[in-house]
Amino acid sequence: MSATVSTAMQHGLQSCERCALLSRPAAGEHDGRCPRCGEELTFRKHESLQRTWAFVIGAAICYIPANILPVLTTTTAAGSDSDTILQGVILLWSPTGWPLSLIVLVASIMIPSAKIIALVYLLVTVQRGSTANNGQRVRMYRVVEFIGRWSMVDVFVDAFTAALVQLQPLMSVAPAPGLFFFAAVVVLTMLAVESFDPRLIWDSLDAKEVRHV
Ligand SMILES: [Zn+2]
Repeated sequence: MSATVSTAMQHGLQSCERCALLSRPAAGEHDGRCPRCGEELTFRKHESLQRTWAFVIGAAICYIPANILPVLTTTTAAGSDSDTILQGVILLWSPTGWPLSLIVLVASIMIPSAKIIALVYLLVTVQRGSTANNGQRVRMYRVVEFIGRWSMVDVFVDAFTAALVQLQPLMSVAPAPGLFFFAAVVVLTMLAVESFDPRLIWDSLDAKEVRHV
């Protein structure tokens, strides 16, 4: 016996994005509100793919100056020196400083690029109507979404590093242009995750199942 999968949309029901309550859509053209939590009810996030692409492309563009331009300028009696994220990672690398160096490397370089790659992968597979690995792709989205909530940690790590460096006498640290691009990458990837509608992952599978009936 094969189970028949049906979606809320096929039954004319809407599921609340915030609390997952199923309810009947409001009459008329306007979207209704969830009777339980008051969240606006939509069948799908508006123009999810276009908006997500725009934010992802913006993040990818900002990622380049974020890594090429210096993020911090340190001034000592000997003069001032500007360092990029990668130069900072190399500078911090020492027998005692390597854990911090590793944290900066993961939080500032690896996580943002992994988020951009994961979002592009989700967008391309949804647009191609892929039905493979749906469960994995939803998990991937959840991971990116979870990391997104902690994205500001990246900025804090950099600020924390700067504060540590400040502890050295006769030294001052100021943000350099790269840091603003870095903050833009963090904000744009968060907006991209927010715009992406994970329900799109199941749409092509729904279409296939309908064809098979
Ligand atoms: Zn709700």
